Amino acid sequence: MARYDFDLITIGAGSGGVRASRIAAGYGARVAVVEQRYLGGTCVNVGCIPKKLLVYASEYGPALEEAAGFGWTFAPGRFDWARLIANKNREIQRLNGVYGDLLASAGVTVINGRAQLLDPHTVAVDERRFSAEYVLIATGSWPVVPPVAGAEHAITSNEAFFLEQLPAAVILVGGGYIAAEFAGIFHGLGVKVTQLYRGELFMRGFDDDLRLMLAQEMRKRGVDLRFNADVARIEASSKRVRATLNDGARLEADLIMYATGRAPNTRGIGLERAGVRLDAAGAVVVDRYSRSSQPNIYAVGDCTNRAMLTPVAIAEGQAVAETIFNRNPVAVDYSLVPSAVFSQPNLGTVGLSETQARERFGAIDVYKSHFRPLRHTLSGRDEQTFMKLVVERRTDRVVGCHMIGAEAGEIIQGLAVALKCKATKADFDATIAIHPTAAEEFVTMRNKAG
Ligand code: NDP
Repeated sequence: MARYDFDLITIGAGSGGVRASRIAAGYGARVAVVEQRYLGGTCVNVGCIPKKLLVYASEYGPALEEAAGFGWTFAPGRFDWARLIANKNREIQRLNGVYGDLLASAGVTVINGRAQLLDPHTVAVDERRFSAEYVLIATGSWPVVPPVAGAEHAITSNEAFFLEQLPAAVILVGGGYIAAEFAGIFHGLGVKVTQLYRGELFMRGFDDDLRLMLAQEMRKRGVDLRFNADVARIEASSKRVRATLNDGARLEADLIMYATGRAPNTRGIGLERAGVRLDAAGAVVVDRYSRSSQPNIYAVGDCTNRAMLTPVAIAEGQAVAETIFNRNPVAVDYSLVPSAVFSQPNLGTVGLSETQARERFGAIDVYKSHFRPLRHTLSGRDEQTFMKLVVERRTDRVVGCHMIGAEAGEIIQGLAVALKCKATKADFDATIAIHPTAAEEFVTMRNKAG
């Protein structure tokens, strides 16, 4: 008889947990995944997918305005938030089903409930007990609201996806991915948006030119973006919220939303009891094979606080399944992880910012292209697209590609392949352009900017 009920129990059916479970089962392992909330995790339910659907929704209003320059006139439009949310919920439910089917067809047992580790090999789910040779922690992350007075009046992205009504005015706190994306969503849907960031310039970690340009473009569109601004106190009446800022200024809106980071979801599941070490931020400490301080317990995705990105969690989940069940140790390569912010306009980036490259290599060349996209010559919109290449001078290798503009994510994804292949600036120059596109600028930049 088998020593354990399962070869692998995965805690959390998000992107990383599902991938690891399916691949492990494909290698013949007996796998169970325990999930207390929803199949598909943050990405499917309250993250990437619904976010992108809301971004699409928010682009129609501005697009219809732009259409006038191309000869179109429309009767005044009307937007129905409740219909959008209902349609979005239906699609997410369909995806929950797809995830369930994927797990079932791979032969993975899904156990509903909250898992707790009793020891390194025993998982309790409510009253039930299951044993496993290996355990994978894939519990994700949860939005953090700092302990400001009145924080209970604030919502996070979790609730934003299910608002019963579209507010007329919103205060958004934070200057990272989620705040920038929701500023665009709300603004595009006609909401008055005030976004507050505590520092000098938001989108820390991105190339400075992109940060500056995104601020400029968002302001041009009408977002009231304020830097060096933070909330000291929040008060609420039955209908309105009022925020008092550090400098005494007061703002009123229908809603205040915090997007001030996400913390690993690692409390109350018995990790310490099972010998799994957590760092100061509560993230599971893992080695390059995603193995925790307890040798039979692994962890992937947001709960390890490496890069909180779905494709990274998937790569980590895949690598764990390979490592354990295919006897093929795989360590994820975290170099050149591309990412996009679906702000309006989009940011796309892969590799090093100019500042990072200068620190690492000293001598670099920088190429920049700044232009009005062809579409906007007739649309009347005053919006600029910007692209930038960062090149290590000694080797001619392109070490960073950055873009702000329409479909930046779509464009940067392809360039990420080129950078993975160690493309040089000469390779970019030798590539024939596709005309007329925005992307062609990446292969036609000839003048050094610095
Ligand atoms: P981010 O880490 O991107 O941004 C958090 C923002 O909140 C920063 O501007 C930070 O400022 C600010 N902040 C942090 N603490 C406080 C505080 N106490 N008071 C005021 N401001 C504060 O987190 P998000 O919540 O936007 O997103 C979480 C993660 O989810 C992202 O890091 C990303 O990995 C992932 N994500 C990815 C997306 C994508 O790929 N498109 C989309 C959405 C999320 P400062 O910079 O000064 O620290």
